Amino acid sequence: MSTPHRTVDVGGATPYTIHIGPGLISQGEALAAHVRGRHVLLVSDSTVAPLYAGAVREALHAARPELAIGTFILPAGEASKTLSHFGHAVDAFATLGATRDACVFALGGGVVGDLAGFAAACWMRGVDCVQLPTTLLSMVDSSVGGKTAVDIPQGKNLVGAFHPPRAVFADTDALRSLPPRELRAGLAEVIKYGAIRDPLFFQWLEAERETLLAGDASALAQAIARSCEHKAEIVERDPLERGERALLNLGHTFGHAIETEQGYGSPDNDNLNHGEAVAVGMVLAARLSAALGLADAADGARLTRLLADYGLPTAIPAGLDPAALLARMRLDKKNLAGRLRLVLWRGIGRAEVVPDVDEAAVLAVLAP
Ligand code: NAD
Ligand code: MG
Repeated sequence: MSTPHRTVDVGGATPYTIHIGPGLISQGEALAAHVRGRHVLLVSDSTVAPLYAGAVREALHAARPELAIGTFILPAGEASKTLSHFGHAVDAFATLGATRDACVFALGGGVVGDLAGFAAACWMRGVDCVQLPTTLLSMVDSSVGGKTAVDIPQGKNLVGAFHPPRAVFADTDALRSLPPRELRAGLAEVIKYGAIRDPLFFQWLEAERETLLAGDASALAQAIARSCEHKAEIVERDPLERGERALLNLGHTFGHAIETEQGYGSPDNDNLNHGEAVAVGMVLAARLSAALGLADAADGARLTRLLADYGLPTAIPAGLDPAALLARMRLDKKNLAGRLRLVLWRGIGRAEVVPDVDEAAVLAVLAP
């Protein structure tokens, strides 16, 4: 069955369009329409570049032969989202002689998107960035909304900037080469949208498990579009995360603590990747919500079942120390004035920010 090309518009001060569909990274005219000057920096990683960078480069070249296209390739994996690789990206701009009208194309998952976006935010105080997400997670989450960052040893995403893309092209054909584990990680973030604000979508995800896990292009495109609509609606109203945007972080404070404490996941280890850590984090947030009397435990059980049905982890990996995880959670960006501020919920579809959560209650859900 052929999949239509869908679009989702993100409004606000710097509006842009998310394009979703097959074959998009080969549409040179559409890509090149966002290049104002002559310089393009194509940023990708060592897994994605051999698969797709040639197609992007050829498409851009065919549409605009005069473009000077530089390439910057990161080693694949979260371990590359560092200040040191950010520095190398900046060097790549300099080598290209990129001027202020340069355009970055971020071809890859969230790691590439976050680092390339941050480099674009900083080069000459900000050049254009077009996101070409190739993981489900980056299509439904990280490529949209303008958050860019790198990690430091003390924590994830602690150095970054808000820098919205000029456009997003989510080429669903790229998902065919995505390892099943990465597909499931993306589905964790998809489930998150149902959990925070869309009970009907949550139900649809319960019903469509087999088609989505089988990689059905039409079901995936539908899941991506619905997720992007949710994200667009929220970031449009709250681009700088002063309020409701924080809801998108359901499960993330727990998840980031796990990721940081365990050591970032990579193709070379079994540590939880971002989506998996968020899955565990959402289960913990639901359990904490029930313990605090905010939500019915049955809703948490239903969420846990859905995540498990999608092959996602639902418990903290063995060997992580609860006190160490809590210490990591204290460094979360959502916290204000030394108080633990968490996204919890009232039940499926009803997330809310709770400003001053009792640490003893948090420790209790972190305990094995
Ligand atoms: P990732 O970029 O590391 O990609 C996962 C793996 O899949 C990598 O090994 C990559 O090389 C490989 N890969 C990517 N596309 C592929 C394809 N089409 N075929 C085969 N292999 C492919 O990780 P991710 O899960 O995409 O993103 C996680 C990152 O995104 C984290 O750093 C997280 O903090 C960040 N993030 C940012 C935001 C935001 O708003 N900026 C939101 C959510 C997550
Ligand atoms: Mg996330």
